[in-house]
Amino acid sequence: MADQLIRAAAAEGGIRAVGVITTRLTEDARQRHKLSYVATAALGRTMAAGLLMASSMKRVGSRVNVRVKGDGPLGGILVDAGLDGTVRGYVGNPSIELPPNAKGKLDVGGAVGDGYLYVVRDIGYGYPYSSTVELVSGEIGDDVAHYLMNSEQTPSALVLGVFVGAGGVTAAGGLLVQVLPKAARDEALVATLESRVSALSGFTPLLQAGKTLTEILNDLLGDMGLTIFPESQMLRFHCGCSFDRVLGALKILGEAELQDMIIQDDGAEATCDFCGRVYQASSDHLAQLIVDLQTESSISG
Ligand SMILES: [Zn+2]
Repeated sequence: MADQLIRAAAAEGGIRAVGVITTRLTEDARQRHKLSYVATAALGRTMAAGLLMASSMKRVGSRVNVRVKGDGPLGGILVDAGLDGTVRGYVGNPSIELPPNAKGKLDVGGAVGDGYLYVVRDIGYGYPYSSTVELVSGEIGDDVAHYLMNSEQTPSALVLGVFVGAGGVTAAGGLLVQVLPKAARDEALVATLESRVSALSGFTPLLQAGKTLTEILNDLLGDMGLTIFPESQMLRFHCGCSFDRVLGALKILGEAELQDMIIQDDGAEATCDFCGRVYQASSDHLAQLIVDLQTESSISG
């Protein structure tokens, strides 16, 4: 099934639910960054969480950045997800592998370690809204739910999953169910949702059993006046980097440094952290940047 996001509501608008299937974009990230099994699970869960969080933003162009900074061997995760359905991300140490945890699952919590979750919501103008919480388990789903409850005061149940085998990612995605302010004081409703979501035996087994997002939401909220919005949104791994941006970044280094690169390396190579794309700037490109810098300084001087 294609990567997609669907939105739903229940309990007369008191409940908001969003589901994502991110199998292909997680496999795309795995190949781009040559991710190990545990790194694929960690980045895949964080990308799904980012897309779920971005889906509640209203303004076109809105994005959410999710940074997981732990003291474990993975060395951090950074994800940038947009309301437009695009996502990109990377981890500090893509090749680390750990033995399975006590439940026999990929040990994402062990790879992440203890630390913090930073979230920045950027609606495209003015100051972005940012907030930080301590990691609960490093398993990502718990951590993001804890963030949504404590920093955004929205009771939220979240399930995220990535299944990666020898041939790559065969199932990935997640589900976010939130109780909106009009119903947030309804403790019985919040408790019912939490117990139902935690009773889901993970998300990937449902996808692997052939369930669609619609069916999963129906199983979960079908008796609560569920409305599934008909438009599903396509999701994909996409990075907005370009050769022009790389040149812009090189220019900031200044004339002396650029001169050095021409003499010592006959050019410069830059790799985009987010998507792994490699850019080559020749000595001619660097020489042109120096000319630009000189022109600018003579105009401003
Ligand atoms: Zn890029």
